[in-house]
Amino acid sequence: MTVSVAIVGAGPSGFYTADVLLKAGRSHEIDIVDRIPAPYGLIRYGVAPDHQTTKNVSRAFEKTATQGEVRYFGNVEIGRDVGLGELKSLYDVVVLAMGARLDKRLGIPGEDLAGVHGSVEFVNWYNGHPDCRNLDPDLDVADAVVVGNGNVAIDVARVLVKTAGEMAHSDLPEYAARAIQGSPLTEVHLCGRRGPVEAKFTNVELREMGVLEVCAPVVDPDILPEEVAGDWSDRDRRLRERNLATLRGFAGTDPAAKAKRVHFRFFSSPVEILGDGRVEAVRFERTRLEDGRTVGTGECFEIPCGLVVAAIGSRSEAVDGAPFDDERGVVVNRNGWVEDNVYAVGWVMRGSTGVISTNRNDAVAVASQIVEKVRGGGKPGRAGLESLLAERRVRRVDFDDWKSIEAAEIANAPEGAPRRKFVSIDEMLGMLS
Ligand code: NAP
Repeated sequence: MTVSVAIVGAGPSGFYTADVLLKAGRSHEIDIVDRIPAPYGLIRYGVAPDHQTTKNVSRAFEKTATQGEVRYFGNVEIGRDVGLGELKSLYDVVVLAMGARLDKRLGIPGEDLAGVHGSVEFVNWYNGHPDCRNLDPDLDVADAVVVGNGNVAIDVARVLVKTAGEMAHSDLPEYAARAIQGSPLTEVHLCGRRGPVEAKFTNVELREMGVLEVCAPVVDPDILPEEVAGDWSDRDRRLRERNLATLRGFAGTDPAAKAKRVHFRFFSSPVEILGDGRVEAVRFERTRLEDGRTVGTGECFEIPCGLVVAAIGSRSEAVDGAPFDDERGVVVNRNGWVEDNVYAVGWVMRGSTGVISTNRNDAVAVASQIVEKVRGGGKPGRAGLESLLAERRVRRVDFDDWKSIEAAEIANAPEGAPRRKFVSIDEMLGMLS
């Protein structure tokens, strides 16, 4: 019997799950629901606009979306248009794949001052996400602090210092290009609470900081250890050795050779954001490693700045009807199993870690549980959802609608750019009517 599956979230984990289920050799009816008209989640709105090659994975997702068994339900929000309880009673199985769309909080005084942003909202802003297009961060600043030593921190730093020419092949929205290119920003301070060995940058992303047109990486050579000490797997040790070698190369560059600089500052833990109404500086406590753990030294220093982006990870939003671990910011689950016929995959299941393809592993694990445990129970499935949405006059965007939106974005693209994104839901729906 056909098993009806509702996947909530059209990002990487949702699409990978659909794909694995399609290949499982059983009859499935798979509906992928997303709260905004455009699919692809993190690929469209999280991956940096100048990393278009990474975004190519959406072509594989498109193949999945256009299989006969699959339907796309864009512009349908769980909790607003349909309750999770309703979805559970309509479908044999519900897979939660909503990602992690909220910023983690630093939890220090001053973080609500104007000029302080979480990286989710900041990245969504420069990626044209409808929720954040009006963020309007004040970039009329000379110094910015980016807190965090992960790939998102590096993305933010790079996008802030690249030239218009370097962004010409990106899909950076015009409002963000105007703000970034019109900014007098020259110094970005990339601050990690641990050391260069512990930084979570992947090496390709780190190396990119050394080949920017008008921006030099600045590293204090004295902070770089001779070798990678500590208990690492072979793979992790190799990655860290590569990062150390890259940072050593950076330490030899002349900071004055270029107009802008990204300063790599390690062992710097933020303790307070200072300012009167808006951010004027960040106070850090110097840290050191003790038996592999980071401890504060009590020594503090300040970095004056007019912009702070906290790139310290993200958390999921709780959904009514699913158990939620508020501390970790994930849906409570055991290897993806949440409760009777409800599963979770990707960042809503395990937190915001790993690269895009990591989500495929979750999809395989969860899909195999679904294939093993869930039997088609003759629930209404797709027909039930369609009639509920029609009754509630919800303007559902199907995949053909999305292809029309996408075609218009591509047709409107400035010279050299892949697309000009529609940045509001009204614009997307407007071009369909
Ligand atoms: P991440 O890799 O987990 O990095 C978070 C950073 O924030 C770490 O340096 C962490 O330090 C720091 N941090 C956390 N809480 C903090 C606090 N309270 N105060 C100061 N620092 C704090 O997360 P991410 O950069 O958001 O990236 C999420 C995932 O997406 C990662 O797996 C990343 O690799 C992936 N990603 C990949 C790419 C790419 O492949 N190009 C691009 C973007 C994102 P500690 O290490 O000390 O905890």
